[in-house]
Amino acid sequence: MDLLTTLVDKGLRRELPTREEALAVLATSDDDLLDVVAAAGKVRRHWFGRRVKLNYLVNLKSGLCPEDCSYCSQRLGSTAGILKYSWLKPDEASKAAAAGLAGGAKRVCLVASGRGPTDRDVDRVSDTIKAIKDQNEGVEVCACLGLLSDGQAERLRQAGADAYNHNLNTSEATYGGITTTHTYADRVDTVHKAHAAGLSACSGLIAGMGESDEDLVDVVFSLRELDPDSVPVNFLIPVEGTPLAKEWNLTPQRCLRILAMVRFVCPDVEVRIAGGREVHLRTMQPLALHLANSIFLGDYLTTEGQAGKADLEMIADAGFEVEGADQVTLPGHRATGGGGCGSHESDGGCGPQGVCGSAAAAPVQEARTDLVAVRRRGAGTDLAPNA
Ligand code: SF4
Repeated sequence: MDLLTTLVDKGLRRELPTREEALAVLATSDDDLLDVVAAAGKVRRHWFGRRVKLNYLVNLKSGLCPEDCSYCSQRLGSTAGILKYSWLKPDEASKAAAAGLAGGAKRVCLVASGRGPTDRDVDRVSDTIKAIKDQNEGVEVCACLGLLSDGQAERLRQAGADAYNHNLNTSEATYGGITTTHTYADRVDTVHKAHAAGLSACSGLIAGMGESDEDLVDVVFSLRELDPDSVPVNFLIPVEGTPLAKEWNLTPQRCLRILAMVRFVCPDVEVRIAGGREVHLRTMQPLALHLANSIFLGDYLTTEGQAGKADLEMIADAGFEVEGADQVTLPGHRATGGGGCGSHESDGGCGPQGVCGSAAAAPVQEARTDLVAVRRRGAGTDLAPNA
């Protein structure tokens, strides 16, 4: 296909595709899917080889959020039966992080529910970063604490944070349909603050919230403009007890097309498959490694992922290798130590169908609630983490 030849050429040159080209990727047929994956895979391998970076989530504070993000099981009014707890102590968080690092992760993502941290919260997280870094030489730490106030990004940087995650989630036009308690502009502002403080910015999206192809292209083009080092791609996990519990509209094929589009638009950026990998890609997960160069190991914030051992086996079986602590994630021209984290919202989604997108993206798919399990182990419990 001429389209794919053009997109590969542009990806190797870090040249932005046109919106029409990005939309055309999302519109390809299932018959062309392997060609799309092969083309985007060339771009992925050019910038990242066969390395897969593993990131490990530690949910420092779960549930009890005053914000109303429709996709999120931790939101105000959520009746999802998730774990709810306040701040983990630094040693508890460090213990959870150690399990992920022992399992092969090179980055720990410290996430807390809430609109944004107080200065006291920044102190707590700073103590946690220190505890983790003291005990694990060379570990990368990303913080994901919501909207930042002036000066907080700088304080996190001074405390040793390497990166900060805050996702745009969806297009500016549809943002008001998924959240009313803060704005898209608030989110952009926090990514700018992270950048300005010298933190590696991480910002991504959630697909599957009833958005149109145009919305997906809009948010990915906005991300390219923000220029984060990493872009987590979440696939909505429609958790019972949230407004989006019935939004089952992704197929494995659509997830692969979305990841390919993100790779073409953000060719040299750490593209991470975040929440929803197991639920929506299912047995097609290994193909997605040809597009993304990063995943989360083990469990998500409020739901369980597949066993960490299965993640490692999948990477090896697909012919990829886990990125080592001594390997630099990003290409030389980006190079400040690497991507971000990205799953503040991994367990959530966006507004009700018809509210969010301008057009339905796909027919409703079979609800695979059998694949969604609320997290009952690891951080905030007495049970061993999955890593
Ligand atoms: S995504 Fe973050 S801010 Fe929004 S409801 Fe969930 S925890 Fe709160």
